[in-house]
Amino acid sequence: MKNLNLDYDVFIIGAGPGGSIAGKIAAENGYKTCIIEKDIIGDKGRYKACGGAIALELIEEIDYPEDKISRYFESLELHHVDGERSSKKGKGATIWRNVFDKFLSDMAIESGVLLKEDEPLIKIEKRDDFYRVSTKKGKYTAKYIIASDGVTSTTLKLLGWPYFEKKNIILTITKEMKISSDIIEQKLGKDAIHAFFGIKNLIPIGYAWLFPKAETITVGWGNQINLVKNSREEFKKFENLPFVRNAIKGSELKIFKPHLIPVGLRPKIYEDNVFAVGDAGGIVDPISGKGIPYAMMSGQIAIETIKSCEKRDKMNKLGSVYEKNLDRKFLRVLKAKRIARDQIFQNDESLKNFLRLWEKHRSSEIVMKKLI
Ligand SMILES: Cc1cc2nc3c(=O)[nH]c(=O)nc-3n(C[C@H](O)[C@H](O)[C@H](O)COP(=O)(O)OP(=O)(O)OC[C@H]3O[C@@H](n4cnc5c(N)ncnc54)[C@H](O)[C@@H]3O)c2cc1C
Repeated sequence: MKNLNLDYDVFIIGAGPGGSIAGKIAAENGYKTCIIEKDIIGDKGRYKACGGAIALELIEEIDYPEDKISRYFESLELHHVDGERSSKKGKGATIWRNVFDKFLSDMAIESGVLLKEDEPLIKIEKRDDFYRVSTKKGKYTAKYIIASDGVTSTTLKLLGWPYFEKKNIILTITKEMKISSDIIEQKLGKDAIHAFFGIKNLIPIGYAWLFPKAETITVGWGNQINLVKNSREEFKKFENLPFVRNAIKGSELKIFKPHLIPVGLRPKIYEDNVFAVGDAGGIVDPISGKGIPYAMMSGQIAIETIKSCEKRDKMNKLGSVYEKNLDRKFLRVLKAKRIARDQIFQNDESLKNFLRLWEKHRSSEIVMKKLI
């Protein structure tokens, strides 16, 4: 239902994976669509803290070019600091987020989206049946808003939506350590990424990781924010594990960055034609912190929801249809994982039990079939 008096049908804040896919689908369906992004996207643009691990299915689905991949992997090595180690098979690759996000935003542009970079949102107001959005460069009107501006979403803050509960936020620290490809392969194996667990002796609720890229090891650590006492000290404890110390010996620190991951839904994900997508809605796997595919799928589902509700003249059902569509596709499983997470991280025995099961089963299977 196009509104000729407004600048845009769909206005998207944030050109991460969620915003770009929402934009692409909206434009493909004939909606006049604009994305604003506070940074510049691409090689010369911003750095985004992320492990950058994505599954092979996603690479194939979006036809992600081989020359944009940093490194392929075939397994996730699971280390418990008490000494147990297991290996979980699973093909995927690591990517740099500036390159990946640029690829997705180019897809949106090709579909007809207008992308405005270096244009942060400053103000958003609801008028009768539309929104007025102000940036440092202009003012725009639109019917629908997609809030895909990440975990700290300015859009939702300005609209007065409630923030996440503390137990649903993970504080992460990332260090990008430059080191030669040969050494990475010697120390971490040719095709493995590594995750480290330990409730008593490493991280109460969360985990740490070594994700190799072409000539960099992404060293990451994440703990539930209200359990963090001294993040730098806790990160150091991880770096001092013999395996980790050996892996990063001789490497050069290039980037150090803290960031948050939401691991439970925001108290609401829809209101008055505004859809929270991806991290802004807390639509992330609560056990692994994987969020890229869920941001992309929730962006797509938000637009499909608009389209189907308009078609059936069910505009008062946008919120319930959005959540129902998300549930059907994957959110039901993420909600169950959120509950299971508390059980898994109860103590080291329950955690080790999960890691043993994880070696053989998908985490969704463990949770939905109640194997723990
Ligand atoms: C340390 C770390 C490691 C991770 N590792 C992985 C991993 O290996 N695999 C995985 O799948 N997921 C991983 N994640 C999660 C993943 O990064 C997120 O789930 C994903 O980026 C969410 O995408 P999004 O589009 O919702 O938000 P984002 O990627 O956060 O994008 C939001 C966009 O909005 C823009 N923006 C913000 N404010 C404004 C504003 N006011 N105006 C305009 N634009 C704005 C930002 O610049 C940004 O481009 C990790 C996260 C962290 C923190």
